[in-house]
Amino acid sequence: MPYDHTNIFAKILRQEVPCVKVYEDEHTLAFMDIMPSVEGHTLVVPKAPAKEIFDLSADGVAALIRTTQKVAKAVRRGLECPGVMLVQLNGPAAGQSVPHAHFHILPREDGVDLSLHGRAMRSPEELEPVAARIRAAL
Ligand code: AMP
Repeated sequence: MPYDHTNIFAKILRQEVPCVKVYEDEHTLAFMDIMPSVEGHTLVVPKAPAKEIFDLSADGVAALIRTTQKVAKAVRRGLECPGVMLVQLNGPAAGQSVPHAHFHILPREDGVDLSLHGRAMRSPEELEPVAARIRAAL
């Protein structure tokens, strides 16, 4: 499926829809999530029309990560949160609802759980074959 230029983040990037901007540079834009799962929930998007992170060039990914680190540091400092979670979803099957690549920056603190954790710990023996398949694909 080609990139859908009518998605909400494309509209925000074209300034057809407003956003609460946190940071902008030549390649990226960061703004507050309109439906925060926690206070401080921030999004970082590339300006390039990429549906998933895999659709970005290597330089595009670098710019996206650079901005995510910069903004996440600011979230941590600014909101004085003890932890910060970075989340990035690719494809509806992974839970991606807006088809424009983005990182979520989520302040975290002890005792406040988000449902992104697994339910059971896996042993190294269980994990190793999976890791081997990933290594083989590098
Ligand atoms: P995802 O499920 O990873 O695609 O996340 C999309 C995120 O975009 C969700 O957390 C939404 O709350 C957020 N979102 C949707 N529309 C807007 C908007 N107009 N401004 C800011 N955030 C938005």
